[in-house]
Amino acid sequence: VKIGAPKEIMPGEARVAMTPASAKELQKLGHECMIEAGAGMRAGFTDTAYSEAGVEVVDSADSLWSAAEVVAKVRPPTDEEAAKLREGQLLISFFWPAQNEALMEKAKDAGASVIAMDMVPRISRAQKMDALSSMANIAGYRAVIEAGNNFGRFFTGQVTAAGKVPPATVLIVGAGVAGLAAIGTSTSLGAITYAFDVRPEVAEQIESMGAEFVFLDFDESSQDGSATGGYAAPSSPEFQEKQLEKFRELAPDIDIVITTALIPGRPAPKLWTKDMVEMMKPGSVVIDLAAERGGNCELTVMDEKIVSENGVTIVGYTDFPSRMSTQSSTLYATNIRHMMTDLTPDKDGVINQNMEDDVIRGATVVHAREITFPPPPPKVK
Ligand code: NAD
Repeated sequence: VKIGAPKEIMPGEARVAMTPASAKELQKLGHECMIEAGAGMRAGFTDTAYSEAGVEVVDSADSLWSAAEVVAKVRPPTDEEAAKLREGQLLISFFWPAQNEALMEKAKDAGASVIAMDMVPRISRAQKMDALSSMANIAGYRAVIEAGNNFGRFFTGQVTAAGKVPPATVLIVGAGVAGLAAIGTSTSLGAITYAFDVRPEVAEQIESMGAEFVFLDFDESSQDGSATGGYAAPSSPEFQEKQLEKFRELAPDIDIVITTALIPGRPAPKLWTKDMVEMMKPGSVVIDLAAERGGNCELTVMDEKIVSENGVTIVGYTDFPSRMSTQSSTLYATNIRHMMTDLTPDKDGVINQNMEDDVIRGATVVHAREITFPPPPPKVK
């Protein structure tokens, strides 16, 4: 079939859902590829590079949406884009179905199918399509780079002719995909790195990366940190109190805090409070990767960088993957390509949206004029 990627129209979005490399792979599955002119420019992919990869470059969004049988996008469609959806068309993009009911209705009414990349089940077989993880990995890395960019000193300690420089001290709160990427980046830059998560099973992984797990003075068996499918559950008030107490103790000595703590379906827990910011040294930095969900730091302002009264920089950007658009487009386009591989089992350019397949079923939120969200729980682990 014809797979097309339009230019993202959300202001500031620099990613693109198809790269010249992913297009070559899609063609091996028997598909034809199209791209809207200029769609890859902000990610470093020129129209010429697409043409050379056998991709048809079309000059308007309208012609792309009307010719493509599969539309691959990064962001959920805007109202304007949703209005272009048509009978039998398949849209693959981030979609956030729980927050986008009206959009699902529109797709349903148009007779289109929607595969939400954010709904790919997090089982081993689907890791190659797990765009949440590929983007979280980039966000974690970029958070450390952003911290360094706003920090007035080295990460690593040095002894130079001009004097001895102490290493920076970094605390990563939340060691999921983004947190682990941040830990790896921070230790590789030479900072003394501490990390904390409510799931004690990540301690070993944290320590194998050269960071130190922050243990609480608490009976672990009484905390229910790890619940549903490896995700965190809200901790008990008693546990939370211990956690905040520990952070207060650390705050005066921490130069950089990177927070990534999330609990599925809830606002981000407030873990780095105003008084902790006040205890930090001037010039310290907080990068709040949970900003979009309300922030882990009490002072975070979403999509902004602010400086507290005592000179601590607090960054609440929500577009870290887009700030590394070449890398994020490359990984995202690969996630999409793997999804297309599973949707094209015979590599003959024919799509089989097999609703018996756990991964395809889980990610499909609209199909055959029905809303198919939420999906039944996956059978395979
Ligand atoms: P997430 O973004 O939902 O949360 C980030 C981290 O915040 C989690 O590790 C969570 O435990 C932690 N957290 C929550 N409350 C906290 C608190 N009060 N203090 C400190 N930390 C807190 O997580 P994610 O990155 O999406 O990953 C969630 C889990 O899913 C992880 O175990 C991850 O390894 C797993 N996973 C599995 C697959 C797979 O395919 N098998 C893929 C991706 C992720």
